[in-house]
Amino acid sequence: MAVLSAAALLVGSVPAATPAVALAPAVAPVATAAPAVTAQAKVSADDAVDRVVAISVDGLNPDAISELGRARTPNLHWLMRHGASTLNARTAREQTRTLPNHTGMLTGRRIDPGHGGHGVTSNSDTGSTVHRAAGHYTASVFDVVHDRGGSTALFTAKEKFALYQRTWNTHGAADRVGRDHGRAKIDRFSVDTDNERLVAKVTADLRRSPRTFTFVHLSLPDAAGHDHGFMGKEYLRAVQETDRLLGEVIRTIDSRTALRRQTMLVLTADHGGRGAGHSTASDSANYRVPFMIWGPGVAAGQDLYRLSSGYQSPGSARTSYSGAQPIRNGDLANLATDVLDLPRVPGAEFNRRRTLDPFR
Ligand SMILES: [Zn+2]
Repeated sequence: MAVLSAAALLVGSVPAATPAVALAPAVAPVATAAPAVTAQAKVSADDAVDRVVAISVDGLNPDAISELGRARTPNLHWLMRHGASTLNARTAREQTRTLPNHTGMLTGRRIDPGHGGHGVTSNSDTGSTVHRAAGHYTASVFDVVHDRGGSTALFTAKEKFALYQRTWNTHGAADRVGRDHGRAKIDRFSVDTDNERLVAKVTADLRRSPRTFTFVHLSLPDAAGHDHGFMGKEYLRAVQETDRLLGEVIRTIDSRTALRRQTMLVLTADHGGRGAGHSTASDSANYRVPFMIWGPGVAAGQDLYRLSSGYQSPGSARTSYSGAQPIRNGDLANLATDVLDLPRVPGAEFNRRRTLDPFR
């Protein structure tokens, strides 16, 4: 029953706006997802993936996941058992703060605009745009997906993410790819500082009108860390609460055959934190973040570094941008375009060769 109703839901909600045709011209669209999937394994590892749900947990220090363990963070541990992951990914080198790192996740760029970075060095929304910070138009995952007919959404628990709405909707570029899908690259932009309510909106959206690319930002650990200290009792409770909300998203996808067969879930963080804060970029408690991937074809229970040639686990080092690279939160942008079979994000540096490989 779940299968039929989910399929019906998908079919009903995927008219012009959703990209089945534009994104996967060779493959039959959503309505025939079930038969298509059975034949999928022979072609390419990521062929089954038609949707990406990216979750960034603000201020998630991977030590909290280890310390709380499977008993108190069952869903994060479920993701690690059923997906490919590392607890030793990196933030941007320059800064371990929220807006600079989220801009990196969305654009695939480092921060320093003198070296191709996005230039967002302020952690508050100054009323400007990423384009102005970079000195030129700066494309995001939203641009690549939307210009090719995909549907996009950004759900955030912080008001300052208005920066992205202004950047890629109000000041989005003209669509010069194929049919004109307009300048607004984010179809649904939703701010709710109540994380529980925000996740209810996310799961409702997944049930009713699943997007090609959904980005979700959760804020509880960061808020508790600033109020009571990172890695302290209240902070750890906030991570547990976030784990519960993550479980809502996982269940929404996993309990619907059509969604489960098409959706890749990626989870990372903008920075960690210990004690009073997280802004010292040279502190390992701040620059070390998790990176988890779960979805069709993804190698279950595997270490992402072992699967991904071209990346090197940095040990405890902070790492620079030269030499062997660690997995970074900014790899998210081109991981998404890769598995969706789309071109790279223009100007993106991270995962440019698309060697981040979570598949069996
Ligand atoms: Zn913070």
